[in-house]
Amino acid sequence: MNIPESKRTKKEFIDDIANHVAGNYHLDTEDEKMWRCNECNTVVLSVTCYVSIHCVVRNNCSGWGEVKPIEIPYCPKCEGEPKKDEHGGYRACWHE
Ligand SMILES: [Zn+2]
Repeated sequence: MNIPESKRTKKEFIDDIANHVAGNYHLDTEDEKMWRCNECNTVVLSVTCYVSIHCVVRNNCSGWGEVKPIEIPYCPKCEGEPKKDEHGGYRACWHE
């Protein structure tokens, strides 16, 4: 999957990931810590996305300075790695 859209709440961001996982992956029958792709049964990998927590009151992507690492899952065969941002990294933000 790609990095969920920024400038939304944490819940909306996490729900996007949860819905994608529920709709596209299933747990391995023997190793319940491992997800597999519904399409091709390949083991799902993930990248770390650094999410900045911004203040919704200012609404301009500033504030707090707190960053949370969030794992973004993807099937290496069907989906490929998530698209990187213009700086070549995985970043997003939540507005709270
Ligand atoms: Zn796949």
